[in-house]
Amino acid sequence: MPGKIAVVGAGVGGLSCAARLACDGYDVHLFEKLDKCGGRNHLLEDNGFKFDMGPSFVLMPDFFAEAFSYCGENLKDYLDLKVLDVNYKIFYPDGDCLNVYKDSSRTKEELERLEKGSSESFDRFIKETSRIYGLVRPLLYKCFTPASLVNLSYWPLLLKLRVFESYWGLARKFFRTDKLRYAFTFEAMFMGVSPYQAPAFYSIISYADHVQKIAHPMGGMYQIPLALERMAKKFGAKFHYNSEVEKISANGSIRLRVNEKELDFDKVVINADYAYAKEKLLGQALPDYRYSCSVYLIYLGLKKKIEGVEHHNLFFAKELTRNLNDIFNAGIIPDDPSFYVHVPTVTDQSLAPQGKDIFYILVPVPNLLKSKEDFSKLENGLRNTVIEKINQRLKINLEELIEVEHRFYPQDFTKYYNIKFGATFGLAHNLMQSAFFRPPNSNSRNKNVYFVGASTQPGGGLPVVLAGSRIVADLINKR
Ligand SMILES: Cc1cc2nc3c(=O)[nH]c(=O)nc-3n(C[C@H](O)[C@H](O)[C@H](O)COP(=O)(O)OP(=O)(O)OC[C@H]3O[C@@H](n4cnc5c(N)ncnc54)[C@H](O)[C@@H]3O)c2cc1C
Repeated sequence: MPGKIAVVGAGVGGLSCAARLACDGYDVHLFEKLDKCGGRNHLLEDNGFKFDMGPSFVLMPDFFAEAFSYCGENLKDYLDLKVLDVNYKIFYPDGDCLNVYKDSSRTKEELERLEKGSSESFDRFIKETSRIYGLVRPLLYKCFTPASLVNLSYWPLLLKLRVFESYWGLARKFFRTDKLRYAFTFEAMFMGVSPYQAPAFYSIISYADHVQKIAHPMGGMYQIPLALERMAKKFGAKFHYNSEVEKISANGSIRLRVNEKELDFDKVVINADYAYAKEKLLGQALPDYRYSCSVYLIYLGLKKKIEGVEHHNLFFAKELTRNLNDIFNAGIIPDDPSFYVHVPTVTDQSLAPQGKDIFYILVPVPNLLKSKEDFSKLENGLRNTVIEKINQRLKINLEELIEVEHRFYPQDFTKYYNIKFGATFGLAHNLMQSAFFRPPNSNSRNKNVYFVGASTQPGGGLPVVLAGSRIVADLINKR
């Protein structure tokens, strides 16, 4: 018989769980420490500019569609997803550029220009990533424990998934030049892990980019949490903003301390960062986890539109191997960083006043556990390097074009969203923290505690977190 469920956190995972469970007939109460929904998928508005602060790529649209169809709703009534013509543009340090298109025949022309014979390699690479995707996709809706490995039927699957090979190692089998190897593995950085450390099965992101294509929700990425919130409310979920949960007592039944009140529930779904919640809310010790990298973000509202950029732009460092080593191993701020520039106004002018552009600049940096340096002392140097690189490549003076500017630091991920060590993408996506080894969605110590979000199974990224919310709904309904 349906009961009373608390959801802690209005990130995409929490919102989607709230909608599913409210639709299933539970009395759902969602508590969020901030004054609005979205979590890392947040919105910042200033002077007519609407900055999506976190995610910018919509991949695997069928996972989004499932989150709505579970509730008998149609994604199209909530989100207007536009497929981009240009997937992304890469600016190489030697002055070369690579445009990767929705239309793979155009991409192949570009690839041949950089590496002879690579159009055929691209086909073979995509075929392999498609095979891997076919194996991984059903697993994304399942919750595993290390004990699941006792099931021998998984063993051949592990080999088929190339679990002991890295994403980079996979790309090396298909492309001769580092230029193209990076062009098809940089996505790992968006999971907060180096392509050298991400297992080969993360190449499902390449499949998603190049086969399923990349979409943008018109009106901006913030439309995604808003849509989920609207759907959850439609089914009766109650939202409590400015309500930071301080403690969760889980001795059989569930008691939450929030805004100086003690509230009782039958179950709780924790969407707040897993490591933070386990330690601070449940008072449990943490194993020796590895954490993803952090990022430094600069949001610029520009006085005019800029030529020569696409919706998604990547600027690669001269020495990418050193760049990755600085971030993921040495814990130092790269002096020659790779970075990403999101210009959503290429596709969607509703995000800025007419005739103006948004530049959202994301620079991967070490998380607060790894970091050996004082970021505040190095920030100006890092910002200048990035701005200078953009100026050189686009032949502009960016500083003079800035109308509004905001910045977001590694420590802000902790300050605003309670993310441990400011690790932007949560627990790292390495082999020993993937699938069977990633924290499961239910708590072995208390059957009424569930987890959803980037650091739990199946992992981070919007579509995968949405799949996690399905796992939680299924677990609760089964019980
Ligand atoms: C800069 C950046 C770029 C990204 N790019 C992409 C991309 O292009 N594509 C993609 O798919 N993914 C991307 N991601 C990843 C994606 O945004 C995340 O995986 C996803 O949003 C995480 O959602 P979540 O459900 O784990 O919740 P979160 O976003 O972590 O939200 C958790 C919520 O819990 C709240 N909370 C915490 N503690 C408490 C408490 N004690 N009481 C009440 N509330 C609490 C927080 O305030 C927050 O609102 C990006 C992320 C970032 C930050």
